[in-house]
Amino acid sequence: MHLKNIKGSYPFFFVIDDGGFDFAVKGDKNSKITLETYDTILKIAKKFNIKIPICFTMKYLDKKNISSVGTPLEYLDELTELFKKNKKYLEIGSHGLTHEYKTNHPGEFYCLDINKPVPEKIQREHIEKSAKIFDYLNLDFPELFVPAYNIWEKGITDKILSEYGVKYIIGQKKFGYKKHIYKYINSDYLEFLPRASLGLASKEYSLTGLYKNYGPFKWKIKEFVKMFIIPRNPFINLYSGKSLKQNRVHSYMTHIGNFMPLNYDFWVDMLNGVKQNQRLKLCKDNREAIKYFYNRI
Ligand SMILES: [Zn+2]
Repeated sequence: MHLKNIKGSYPFFFVIDDGGFDFAVKGDKNSKITLETYDTILKIAKKFNIKIPICFTMKYLDKKNISSVGTPLEYLDELTELFKKNKKYLEIGSHGLTHEYKTNHPGEFYCLDINKPVPEKIQREHIEKSAKIFDYLNLDFPELFVPAYNIWEKGITDKILSEYGVKYIIGQKKFGYKKHIYKYINSDYLEFLPRASLGLASKEYSLTGLYKNYGPFKWKIKEFVKMFIIPRNPFINLYSGKSLKQNRVHSYMTHIGNFMPLNYDFWVDMLNGVKQNQRLKLCKDNREAIKYFYNRI
């Protein structure tokens, strides 16, 4: 079917970053990510019959220290099993090897703090080492890639990833860091799929009872997150997407800490709301999100 012939609404799909992270907030013991967090994501996927991508930073899955920077999770074997058994509901994506460059620069493939790309040789090494870890775990290199901090070097990062079978790069179209504005429109090597914020930060691991301040207003987290779903108020577009336009996106950004077991009811409510909203389509997987994303372009 031609993509333009698909009638429908705005896609709702989310992709989870920071798979493998030990803690949602470094130094906060209560924010420890355990296997139960992945079980919670699986439970949500089963309840709504969707396939949720979780993008992993591979140093946390590096059991044999292939990368020489491995810090493997204590429940790595169970986690790998969980994915292998539940391919219908969970998809593994790549979120780099180290997340930061040399532990202190935000961005693994491009340093946001100094506005400079990481040398090509090192970008390749990171992707090559990730591939070896996937191999060791007997997993295919993912189709989906989400760059840490949304930052990547056009023509280099995407080119190397394409050599490893990556098909899609998901990130923000436009964002600011310090004085620089970064813009991405497309890639010559991968399909660039834009995403938007849901107003949720990675450190927000307890969504029950959370309030958010927004201008002079105070919002319950559930109401706050709803405002970020496209189509949305132009002021939110301006605040979050730096544009007044109602730009369609492929998916929304979430982080592993947002899916702690105590947040299960939050997500069930949220997705039930999406299903009841005639202007939205809860997409069952990445491919369906792509189809609905192109619908009104
Ligand atoms: Zn990340």
